[in-house]
Amino acid sequence: MQEIFKIIDEIISKRQLKENPKALLAQALQDPEVQQFLRQNQNKISKEMIADGLTNIYLFVNQRHNSHSATPGYQPELYISGKTIALRFKKSQEKLQAEKKKRELNNLHLIDLPAKLHGVKLQDLDKSAGRKQALFEIANFLKGFVQNPHQKGLYLSGDFGVGKTYMLAGLANRIAAMDKEVIFLHVPTFISGLASHFDDHSLPQRITRLAETDVLILDDIGAETLSQWSRDDVLGVILQQRMDNVLPTFFSSNFDMAKLQQHFAQTKNAIDPVKAARLMQRVRFLAKEVVISGPNRRS
Ligand code: ADP
Ligand code: MG
Repeated sequence: MQEIFKIIDEIISKRQLKENPKALLAQALQDPEVQQFLRQNQNKISKEMIADGLTNIYLFVNQRHNSHSATPGYQPELYISGKTIALRFKKSQEKLQAEKKKRELNNLHLIDLPAKLHGVKLQDLDKSAGRKQALFEIANFLKGFVQNPHQKGLYLSGDFGVGKTYMLAGLANRIAAMDKEVIFLHVPTFISGLASHFDDHSLPQRITRLAETDVLILDDIGAETLSQWSRDDVLGVILQQRMDNVLPTFFSSNFDMAKLQQHFAQTKNAIDPVKAARLMQRVRFLAKEVVISGPNRRS
């Protein structure tokens, strides 16, 4: 419809003469976004449709520019519905962003770890020589994980303070952003807290939750004091289930895998190399070892 703006002018002049509120409608019709909408849809819009749609056009302009909007977080949008100019509200970019942030936060469960780890971003981590391979393996994991959630995880070993926990936090946040659930657990605190759950009916549930989460990250494994029970009936059960279901599992440790095996052999009351070897088999199945070197960043 070539003459759409002539028609608009007609409507404006007619209404402006009659009553004052109509001046507002006229103004709304001259809004650049409204004009653009009318131009884009000129083949579908008739004079009658504009006349009938004036209220919606007015509301569109009014709500878009109104900081005290009746619908905070939503942006108005005009569209053609059959023979009418209709109005709908879409979530604003800011609202979508805020919702995404919140989902990410809810997807990552930090257990006995500082909340600041929520803020660690993989892309911000430095790529100094001692960390390159780990970051490469993490990127590789993520690439595979997008296609198939059943991926082998990583075992980051290295001295205290080289940044293992930090790197895994970057990974955890990335996975959370993919709308997957991650549990990031500080093993020593978890194991020492187990005693208080020994008679507690919630323990099997806690174990199941760790066994079934999309991605499990066990931080600082090897720094805990194990009993036969916590080794075989807690840690062993969790790792066995994750192995059976090929669920991604990550570890950080000050020990390399060989040292961790020795650690697993020594519980409070016994030395048990066979049980240790069996547990280590699960760790090896679940994760590939990568050694991280570098300065102690805590000092
Ligand atoms: P690890 O788990 O190997 O003992 P962390 O990941 O806890 O080491 O890192 C030790 C400290 O160094 C952390 O408190 C963190 O603030 C800092 N840190 C680690 N990696 C980085 C990094 N890439 N950039 C900046 N600070 C870092
Ligand atoms: Mg650590």
